[in-house]
Amino acid sequence: MCLYDHFYDEDSKCPKCNAKIKTEWQTLQFECLLESWKKGDFVQYHKWELIPEKERKKLYGDVKLGPSSRRTNQYRSDAPLLLNGKVPVRTSCTKCKSSLEAYAKVVSGKFMGIIEIEADGEEKEFVIFRPETTAKSLREEFANRLSQRNG
Ligand SMILES: [Zn+2]
Repeated sequence: MCLYDHFYDEDSKCPKCNAKIKTEWQTLQFECLLESWKKGDFVQYHKWELIPEKERKKLYGDVKLGPSSRRTNQYRSDAPLLLNGKVPVRTSCTKCKSSLEAYAKVVSGKFMGIIEIEADGEEKEFVIFRPETTAKSLREEFANRLSQRNG
């Protein structure tokens, strides 16, 4: 069994046959914990917790192989896995069977959508946008300018 993380973009389309891509885009870029991000989601893993035995019994009865942990609503960290960049992803078109390579675009730690979709293309490489363009450095630059003006 292969483990991936997934990105989902309901607006992504196959460049070859124009079919909408309804499957999730897979990536091996991070830790592959079966996380799934939709557009606008914060790109970080959710924390997992053990399901208390009482609740587990209620949910699954005496099923021995029922799940013993679950994803919580909390993120593992306040920092995203990637602040600004492009994560290589792949899937295949269910209509024309092309294999598709693309990027999941991440801006300010949020998944913005699938871009640069190519049919039967080369595997893409991870891209990190230059830190100069992040909001933090813009703020610092602004602060510098203010202090220069006042100094
Ligand atoms: Zn297609």
